[in-house]
Amino acid sequence: MPDGLMSGPSKPLVLVVEDEAALATMLRYNLEKQGFRVEEAADGQEALTRIAETQPDLVLLDWMLPAMSGLEVCRQIRRRPSTKDLPVIMVTARTEDQDAVRGLNTGADDYITKPFSTEALIARMRALLRRSGAMPAKGALAFHDISMDLATHRVLRNGRPLHLGPTEFRLLEFFLQHPRRVFTREELLDAVWGREIHVEPRTVDVHIRRLRKAINSEGELDLIRTVRAAGYAIDTEPV
Ligand code: CA
Repeated sequence: MPDGLMSGPSKPLVLVVEDEAALATMLRYNLEKQGFRVEEAADGQEALTRIAETQPDLVLLDWMLPAMSGLEVCRQIRRRPSTKDLPVIMVTARTEDQDAVRGLNTGADDYITKPFSTEALIARMRALLRRSGAMPAKGALAFHDISMDLATHRVLRNGRPLHLGPTEFRLLEFFLQHPRRVFTREELLDAVWGREIHVEPRTVDVHIRRLRKAINSEGELDLIRTVRAAGYAIDTEPV
């Protein structure tokens, strides 16, 4: 049982909306192994019915569904007062940023691109479930003058609130879990993005730049250490 957090009747319920039966079965298997309860729906209409019937804690919503698209399902979830705050992760096979942005604009809380690792999916699910209170908080992470509250998703540096995008948040969370350890771009891709084959290592550099910008104010110590030809770490020693 991971983290020893989920057991008994408090196991979060996840609705997997996926029309590819093999993928739905694989997701159910992996999620149940990780301590989640799983319901399935093979199309959008069934998804909305299952949501009303079972009141899941989170919806894993495939983008490409027959008849009603994942986007439309997401819109309807947001439109209904009883489900407007229901955490939704959009699953997409597309890689265009434009699509991801459209997905988030319709109210998805996060998205993940096929193919993804179970590890990456679970990390996103846990983050959302902690935020919605459906899962116990893991507490807080801290390094130097940065603190991250995993329950509220608040990140502070020296008492100043930091505003991070979802990827930068996960990146920082991962660094905070392994202070001073140097990770290669490939290791960061695996841990934070989850082996998305379309993501190139230089994407890591882009998000590292954004993370730096978000956490370092003028005159403050740059806490992200760049190790030439090796990768990145969170560290108070710049070289
Ligand atoms: Ca599909």
